[in-house]
Amino acid sequence: MNRVFNFAAGPSTLPVDVLKKAQNELMDYNGCGMSVMEMSHRSADFDKIVKDAEKLMRELLDIPENYSVMFLQGGASTQFAMIPLNLFGKNKKADYIVTGAWSKKAAEEASKYGTANIIASSEETNYTYIPKVDEFSKDADYVHITMNNTIYGTSYKYVPDTGDIPLVADMSSNIMSEKIDVSKYAVIYAGAQKNLAPSGVTLAIVRNDLIGKHMDITPTMLQYKIHADKGSLYNTPPCWTIYILKLVLEWAKQLGGVDVIEANNKKKADLLYNYLDSSDFYNGTAVKEDRSLMNVPFVLPNDDLNAKFS
Ligand code: PMP
Repeated sequence: MNRVFNFAAGPSTLPVDVLKKAQNELMDYNGCGMSVMEMSHRSADFDKIVKDAEKLMRELLDIPENYSVMFLQGGASTQFAMIPLNLFGKNKKADYIVTGAWSKKAAEEASKYGTANIIASSEETNYTYIPKVDEFSKDADYVHITMNNTIYGTSYKYVPDTGDIPLVADMSSNIMSEKIDVSKYAVIYAGAQKNLAPSGVTLAIVRNDLIGKHMDITPTMLQYKIHADKGSLYNTPPCWTIYILKLVLEWAKQLGGVDVIEANNKKKADLLYNYLDSSDFYNGTAVKEDRSLMNVPFVLPNDDLNAKFS
């Protein structure tokens, strides 16, 4: 079998063991005579899949009890709206640190529902670094960061200390790639397709005291409360994707968990960064201290060569 290395935008490769397991169970899951793609989301078999996925997620990320874990739809882009719709209080105001295209989009979306205050941005250098911020608006309902900037290859090496203001982090391209302290964040969200599963499911980890305070205009499907109360089964979920997510989490556990995954990622990133640092032909674009473990962008000496390379 000729498997390729996939450096493209969008979904990433899945572990071969996961694909094989899914292949084995494709026609007949657990002796029930049908595929997970076909079964009722109200069946006992699927109920176990979704509960196991949540249990494994909690175990692998060491998620405290006072957080809800939700499997949602609409990609991380839908979270750009769900965050303000659920967290804006009477001030309808949040601080955004803009470190790339995704955080910019998140701020733009939030500004439809209130004030998205950009308190720091690295746009002036084409997002080569992470601003170090330690002051926030006292009346902000939350502070939003994009922890790993997929396109620009930068990543937070510190957790902004926002005090009592809830910290919200988009971890779409670094979730489960390194150890994090969930208790430092109020909301963590991630589209699954980079690190967890095929596209179609979005992970949201939300501190319980923030659930149920959504704005009146919030559509039912965009309320964290309904999904948290119904255990991600309010409406028909992306059953197949949640099943593959469960298989990926089982694989990750068997591998040794996030510590082992992080060590592997460091090894891979070091190889690439050391090569870039020793090359006068390929140049990494992110400043050294903010380099991402996951995305390693580089350029060639001129635009003609860049065009030829891509
Ligand atoms: N945030 C980040 C950091 C991303 O990398 C992406 C997509 N790659 C998104 C948000 C948007 O995710 P989605 O396509 O799931 O809406």
